[in-house]
Amino acid sequence: MVTLATEQITVAANKRYYRKSKQGYWLVWNKDHPKAYNGRVLEQVIVFEEHHKCCMLRWGVVHHINEVKTDNHIENLQGMTRRQHINLHMANKRIPDSRKCCRCGSNKTSVGSDGVAKWSVVDRSKGLFHCSNCDNYERRKK
Ligand SMILES: [Zn+2]
Ligand SMILES: [Zn+2]
Repeated sequence: MVTLATEQITVAANKRYYRKSKQGYWLVWNKDHPKAYNGRVLEQVIVFEEHHKCCMLRWGVVHHINEVKTDNHIENLQGMTRRQHINLHMANKRIPDSRKCCRCGSNKTSVGSDGVAKWSVVDRSKGLFHCSNCDNYERRKK
């Protein structure tokens, strides 16, 4: 079972070294990993591989379904090829910014440091989203 990173820490004992990459992903220290870059591996890759007992192919990518880059719970991770991943993100970008929160009806949500509006996906095929306020609220309720 993988312990997920919640803060930037260095744990020498179990060799888990957490750091946020410039892109905002959690990195784990593992220099022997085939997908290591400068000795660090994206945490979502480790979680995905350990759960599915597999090794990601060189062109494999682990996508965050809710588009929260730090949410590395296995339910939020989806394996795909690099090509599929690019297509998926292009398709997501095409969602017009007339998105509205299906809970409070607001068309405003907070914007992350990367300039991307933070909508949480409730049901993409039906075009249902939650604004960041409602998303926080729903999370607290759980
Ligand atoms: Zn993705
Ligand atoms: Zn809302």
